[in-house]
Amino acid sequence: MISNMLSSFLKKLLFARQFFNMNGKLEILGERNVIMEPELFLMLNEASYGLGKESAKIFFEKYKKKIDLKQNNYSNLMNLLEILGLGSVKIMKVGEKSATISVKDSIISEQYRKKRGKSKSNTCEFIAGFLAGTFSFISNSETDAQETACASKGGSVCIFEVKW
Ligand SMILES: [Zn+2]
Repeated sequence: MISNMLSSFLKKLLFARQFFNMNGKLEILGERNVIMEPELFLMLNEASYGLGKESAKIFFEKYKKKIDLKQNNYSNLMNLLEILGLGSVKIMKVGEKSATISVKDSIISEQYRKKRGKSKSNTCEFIAGFLAGTFSFISNSETDAQETACASKGGSVCIFEVKW
């Protein structure tokens, strides 16, 4: 039954004795591997957004008394994000309940391109979360941020739309 479901690649690996699972160790082509539920990757992607949002909140809570942050001064806050090293952060547009932010040389997309080449999808969920957390601090309300263009796919900047 199960063998009908195995891909031909896995069948070849089994035939060539390149797929072992012994004593809790899974080896494919001589390398240790692990099988995970595909949902895990969705969870990790969602988690990185949440982690970014939480770390921004922690960051601003921690430093708001130490740094003179005028809560509505957007460019001061964007400068602060640059100092953290996330990338070169610029406000493109601010509306009543939304903002468009560009991040040049995002730490994530730079690493992605360097290590893996071009991506087919946006990669900077953590920064989207961090921006959501930052604007949540500024607006004192719930926020949501989405990356609408990503340098990992090509181009030089990542664009984020923040709504609150
Ligand atoms: Zn990006």
